[in-house]
Amino acid sequence: MREHIWHAKKVREVLDHWGVDPQQGLDSETARTRLAEWGPNLLQAKAKASPLEQFVRQFTDFIVLVLIGAALLSGPLLGEWTDAIAILAIVFLNATLGFIQEYRAERALEALKELTAPMATVLRQGETTTIPAKEVVPGDIILLETGSLVPADARLIEAHNLRTNESSLTGESTPVEKVANETLDEQTPLGDRRNMVHSSTVVVYGKGRAVVTATGMNTELGKIAGMLQEIGEEQTPLQQELDRVGKLLVYGCLTIVAVVFGLGLIHQEPPLEMFLVAISLAVAAIPEGLPAVVTIALALGVQRMVKRNALVRRLPSVETLGAATVICADKTGTLTENKMTVRQVVTANHNIYVTGEGYMPEGRFEVDSGPLSVDHCDLQLVLKIGALCNNAELKAPSSGGDWTVRGDPTEAALLVSAAKAHISLSALEHDYPFVEEIPFDARRKRMTIVRAVSDDQNAPPDVNCQALSKGRRVAFVKGAPDLVLELCTHIYVDGKVERLSDRKRQQLLETNSQLAGQALRLLAMAYRPLDSDGPYTAENIERDLIFAGMQAMIDPPRSEAKAAVDKCKRAGIEVVMITGDHRNTAVAIARELGLYKEGDLALTGADLDKIGDSELEQIIERVRVYARVSPEHKLRIVRAWKARGHIVAMTGDGVNDAPALKESDIGIAMGITGTDVSKESSDMILADDNFASIVAAIEEGRAIFDNIRRFIHYLLSCNIGEVMTLFVSSLIPGFPLPLLPIQILWINLATDSVPALALGVEPAEPGIMERPPRPARETIITRGIASVMGFQGLLIGLLTLGAFAIEYYLVGGGVERARVMAFSATIFAQNLHAFNCRSQRHSLLRLGPFSNPWLVVAFLLVVISEMAIIYLPFFQPVFATMPLSLQDWGIVIGLGSIPLIVMEAVKLLRAWREKRRC
Ligand code: ADP
Ligand code: MG
Repeated sequence: MREHIWHAKKVREVLDHWGVDPQQGLDSETARTRLAEWGPNLLQAKAKASPLEQFVRQFTDFIVLVLIGAALLSGPLLGEWTDAIAILAIVFLNATLGFIQEYRAERALEALKELTAPMATVLRQGETTTIPAKEVVPGDIILLETGSLVPADARLIEAHNLRTNESSLTGESTPVEKVANETLDEQTPLGDRRNMVHSSTVVVYGKGRAVVTATGMNTELGKIAGMLQEIGEEQTPLQQELDRVGKLLVYGCLTIVAVVFGLGLIHQEPPLEMFLVAISLAVAAIPEGLPAVVTIALALGVQRMVKRNALVRRLPSVETLGAATVICADKTGTLTENKMTVRQVVTANHNIYVTGEGYMPEGRFEVDSGPLSVDHCDLQLVLKIGALCNNAELKAPSSGGDWTVRGDPTEAALLVSAAKAHISLSALEHDYPFVEEIPFDARRKRMTIVRAVSDDQNAPPDVNCQALSKGRRVAFVKGAPDLVLELCTHIYVDGKVERLSDRKRQQLLETNSQLAGQALRLLAMAYRPLDSDGPYTAENIERDLIFAGMQAMIDPPRSEAKAAVDKCKRAGIEVVMITGDHRNTAVAIARELGLYKEGDLALTGADLDKIGDSELEQIIERVRVYARVSPEHKLRIVRAWKARGHIVAMTGDGVNDAPALKESDIGIAMGITGTDVSKESSDMILADDNFASIVAAIEEGRAIFDNIRRFIHYLLSCNIGEVMTLFVSSLIPGFPLPLLPIQILWINLATDSVPALALGVEPAEPGIMERPPRPARETIITRGIASVMGFQGLLIGLLTLGAFAIEYYLVGGGVERARVMAFSATIFAQNLHAFNCRSQRHSLLRLGPFSNPWLVVAFLLVVISEMAIIYLPFFQPVFATMPLSLQDWGIVIGLGSIPLIVMEAVKLLRAWREKRRC
């Protein structure tokens, strides 16, 4: 079959081919069958290692292989068959554990990817809906707007100033103009197919509507990419550090193990047995499972963050979050609710108050002297322009619910204010058909919609007002008042157009700043009758406008934002507000939130343009509010903070925010209002757009880092303990081997698994948000922690030897019994030591011994399994164990408690000293 050349067909032909009505889209039944027929809209991924392969990989570690070899040899050579089999069994258990952890880590990462997978806006059964991009099928009508990621290859049906960036496909980074009503030559190369949009390209301007012609591997991207190369999971800085530390540990351990082996030979221990000891020690001491455990801890933390509405897209950000020192947050929607309500309408001669709450279109219009008729000409015009220069949709409640909106809340508020004056939105749409749009843009801070005034208006709604006369085209403009007023030459006063005097302009600007100072967000409405039939550009129509009035809306701060800002202050994190809104509006809201006080700086975009980067760096730490900024300014703000050594979290939603999101240490996109492009460039997405969720994520980030530090501390200090036991004993001539290989392996298995995992889910330490951020350059194992670990390891090693020595030299219980003592003492000490590792600073009594129930369960599990090994006849020959006397147990428990008692004493002493200092 010949391939279809979609760009060489008429729109009608393409629509017919796929059997779709462009006003309705596909019905869900057809969509379902198409999805089955064409498959999901995904690039094929390279096959991954199967679980079996993953499992087998656990055994390919060199030292594990040596251990297996040695165990296998010890059977026939020494006749130690039980030993050999037991060692193999434990190695197998270890591998299973490692496999389960790696597998879980991988699943968790995949679940995350699912959560942050791209979405697409399509028309289905006449309804605009958002679906996962992978469910898009050929024939779907897709809606594109600035910032959309094109989900599939599609033929344009409609395009308004549509421009896309196709660099992901063609490498060409200048945006390409797109048109709908052209049919191209079959031979047109990919880069010139102006009537098509392609998967993975980005809408950088305008809007459009297209019918999908190819999905998944059939798209141009699919043809080029062939297979989606699994992008290797990035290693987090922490994992890299652990890699380095791990290598160091391996060499360190191997050296000590070699020494132990050598000294053993000198002391005439049997060589093969000594070798087995050495290798078991190596296997036990080298924390080969750490990277997987760290991944799990990170991934589990990420899942906790999801519950708090923060979706992390890249694992390394989890660590960075914990070190964040400044949050630059958008005002609208992040710090405020983004539920706009128009409170005042300003016309040439009136200041009109609007009553009513929320999106329900019921309310009155009042002036100081009393109610105002909604038929007032000037009021009608301002409200109509607000509704005509609009892309939002107001939806009546289905049953008993609230009125809802689709689209930009700022625009929705304008629909509501118009509806409050009994203006019929559907009649407007009919009387003034859409012609063209020059979209809103965060730089221009305004937008324009050109409409035709239809001839068949049966009762022109503006009979008394000649503003909108029949048969013409009119440009309706709305935007930031200070900028729109610059474009106006005339003003609409009591139904007539007059010249706009400088005095009047000045007066309007003053009203604007004054209302902004009351935390109101203002938009000016203007219009201009047009003579030409197009093409319309910002330059040729946004000038010589007639000013109609302004609408001022409130957008209350989010109720939880103030508390979150407070929390940041206590946690040593700066909060900065960034907005395109008026300076006064921004400052008024910042004050309410407690993030701006007298003496702080509030800069506008114009101020920023006047100063250089070095000057900005000088004052950056004093600026709390940036107003009337453009996306470019955000980039400068991030850079200045970073230059001062800060770790910056920055929010963004628009297509132009992408560079700043990438430049920041933690780029945060908005889940609800954010564009696809901003999401793709972000490290984290806020499901609820809420500032408080950023703070929650930072809190989790800190907790995760603490937890990783906890179990690394625990694992390494225990391992040092084991190494110390054998190292010190080998230094003392005539001192028998205190632990057998199988016992060493068991100790490692018991303590490395359950208690370490339980430490990984330790609840956040008290006061986690009362301390300053962790220095970004601080390693996970600081010098301080390393020496504490060394000390604790030594303690565990010595007490193990002590238990052995007391039994062997003082009680005279024989070497086997002495080993059981050493074995039990180590396990007991390590098991209790896990409780030490819960906090570096707080006493167990302050934390509450049972506040991490998992650790209590782990403790009991380890104790029970140890009892089984010692008392069950089945295990006794395997582990060379025997029941202990009450006196023995007394010694074991006494010695095993030493690390806990010592560390508690140290913590109490430190707390006491600190209190005295204060
Ligand atoms: P924010 O940082 O609050 O999101 P925006 O960039 O959305 O700021 O808006 C900046 C200014 O542009 C606003 O103060 C308002 O005057 C104007 N504006 C906002 N939204 C629109 C819109 N949809 N159409 C026209 N003008 C708008
Ligand atoms: Mg906005």
